[in-house]
Amino acid sequence: MRNATPPGAADKTASAQPLLSVNNIEVVYNDVILVLHGVSIEVPQGSLVALLGPNGAGKSTILKSISGLLLTEDGKVTRGDIEFEGKKISNIDPEKIVRKGIFQVMEGRRIIEDMTVLENLRLGAFTRRDKNVKQDIEMVYDYFPRLRERNGLAGYLSGGEQQMLAIGRAMMARPKMMLLDEPSMGLSPLLVKEVFEIIRNLNKELGITILLVEQNARLALNIADYGYILESGKVMLDGTADELMNNEDVKAFYLGGGGEERQSFKNLKSYKRRKRWI
Ligand code: ATP
Repeated sequence: MRNATPPGAADKTASAQPLLSVNNIEVVYNDVILVLHGVSIEVPQGSLVALLGPNGAGKSTILKSISGLLLTEDGKVTRGDIEFEGKKISNIDPEKIVRKGIFQVMEGRRIIEDMTVLENLRLGAFTRRDKNVKQDIEMVYDYFPRLRERNGLAGYLSGGEQQMLAIGRAMMARPKMMLLDEPSMGLSPLLVKEVFEIIRNLNKELGITILLVEQNARLALNIADYGYILESGKVMLDGTADELMNNEDVKAFYLGGGGEERQSFKNLKSYKRRKRWI
């Protein structure tokens, strides 16, 4: 499955150059804590790729390595590299990464609570020089009608509305690629459904390439083209969303129905038989 071409790669470019490629990276925090052990990921132009796995697997660290936010946490890519549109972007200042067209929506929403909804949205457009900001605010309101009605401080929004605002703010940067970290976190099932439908539309209608980190594998695979499963800082399995959803091990461990003894892919005999690259 490792060699399967992620959808979008074959039909979008003859050379199949992915928009983003993470090549065998190692990440270290505080000069000593080794978190990623040679992770490789490809995200084709126009695709929606999911990064799945348990707590502490290193999913957020991958996103922060791409967006450069790793540097703000004393983390560093110490081996391998990350390429966006064919150019190396590893260990670059986060603001430069935003200007290249990558915008990360962080876990826990991170909106500015004592600013209004509109001010938060305008902030998302800070790297832009064009005059279409007003028009794009309307576009965000069309995607998230609830935000249009909320004129007060962002801190008074519900959790779901704050998540919508965080995504709306990212849209204001007109990114080529959005990195979404656990958008379902803390939301009611109904709101999760709404937010995930919007994420799918951002990908399909606006053509924004999306790398989505999510603990809820079923939710993510329902909208993704391709997925990677991470454990302990390594990619354990990858494949199209359909392949992963029909994989017996993924079904047992990540989509419900697995017994308590199945703690990890490493413990699965069938996984060991198929282990191809580590
Ligand atoms: P979660 O959903 O819990 O965030 P995750 O898969 O996103 O899980 P990461 O947040 O990337 O995992 O964390 C991977 C490992 O790196 C964990 O062991 C975590 O403790 C460690 N880690 C994350 N951030 C830092 C940091 N700033 N300094 C030191 N260690 C860190």
